Amino acid sequence: MAKRDYYEILGLARGAGSDEIKKSFRNRARQLHPDNKESGDEAAFKELAEAYEVLSDEQKKASYDRYGHEGVKGSTRDFDNVDFSSFQGFGMEDIIDALFGGGMRGGFSGGGGASRSGPRQGAHLRYDLDLEFLDSVFGLEKKITVKRLEDCTTCEGSGATPGSNLSTCNTCQGQGQVKQLVNMLFMQSYQIIACPDCSGSGKKIEKPCKDCKGAGQTRKSREFDVKVPAGVKDGDRLKLQGAGDKGPRGGTFGDLFVVLNVRDHPEFVRDGFTIHVKQVISFSMAALGAEILVPTVEGAKVLKVPAGTQSSSQLVMRDLGVPHLNNPSRRGDHVVHVVVETPTKLSGEERKLLEQLAEIRHEKLKVAAPVADKTESASDSTATPAKESGGSKKKKSQEAAAEPVEAEDKGIFDKIVDVFRPKE
Ligand SMILES: [Zn+2]
Ligand SMILES: [Zn+2]
Repeated sequence: MAKRDYYEILGLARGAGSDEIKKSFRNRARQLHPDNKESGDEAAFKELAEAYEVLSDEQKKASYDRYGHEGVKGSTRDFDNVDFSSFQGFGMEDIIDALFGGGMRGGFSGGGGASRSGPRQGAHLRYDLDLEFLDSVFGLEKKITVKRLEDCTTCEGSGATPGSNLSTCNTCQGQGQVKQLVNMLFMQSYQIIACPDCSGSGKKIEKPCKDCKGAGQTRKSREFDVKVPAGVKDGDRLKLQGAGDKGPRGGTFGDLFVVLNVRDHPEFVRDGFTIHVKQVISFSMAALGAEILVPTVEGAKVLKVPAGTQSSSQLVMRDLGVPHLNNPSRRGDHVVHVVVETPTKLSGEERKLLEQLAEIRHEKLKVAAPVADKTESASDSTATPAKESGGSKKKKSQEAAAEPVEAEDKGIFDKIVDVFRPKE
């Protein structure tokens, strides 16, 4: 009997798109599937399933479009092996999922995830790479050694002692897949899985290879170059394509994911591309302004602390932060958090100088305790104007005396700076 055209089976014109193919298959499958009492037709459903298997697979479809049935000969599944009676009571989606794999992604994956139709990709591997903070900022090239599965060199991946025989697997009759009773929803059904006895190869090894004990694979240490780009952060992953395990029986290599663990820095704290650092300065430096050396990722740099800098203010050093990943010419900033330190444990000379300073600035170090009044209104009326006049008086005197005080007392400030400036 001549095979019908796959497009014709799906009721489509040649060259129909994947959405049309999927839609038409679903509509027709709903009518034809054996569970449908009115229009169910097992033979027609199998024909439809075969057509869909080819046309939903891009490679097979391309081959079919060019060469017709000859182009896909042997690459389609024999749907006669599928026991549709086991699907009774299931919705279409379940049947399609069981036949074509979850999510109807097209290719035939035989429910169990393994099939004879294509070699599998090996497992992805993970490698944890510890990085110093500065290496995460500037990047790093490093060699790492990974143990991964590769084909056994003795048996070239077959798992059989070289020269020994391979017989057809009895469990699956060489098909590489078997039906397995599984629980689906509230019912039991059959799914097609890779044969557990031959792992889907369809062949039985008579004499297993001694080196790999029949597995066809052994773990080998391999060295890879990892290029960590500038600007990576803790938890970032780098993918080394093809550096993972090799898939069994001619499968492709999985990937290797290098997970970066960036160590904390004793001084620098990173936030995005910005680096924060704490810098303690003396109160005379804060008052007078100073040039100080601050640590940056580029080494110590000179920072000008402006006169009158307050504690917890932030001084920004532009473009000394973390480079942007993939665009290292753009950089974040280096933010210096200034902490003005109040001196403790004063020497006699220091105390004298500070007392002089306080005197010149009309800062009272002692104040008479206010006498509490008995009536509320009286205490209120005396307290408020006193505060106000005190505040404004102080301000006025500061303004008025600003110039002469500065000129006159420079010597004292300089002395204080000499005493408190940290010795380098
Ligand atoms: Zn071997
Ligand atoms: Zn088998």
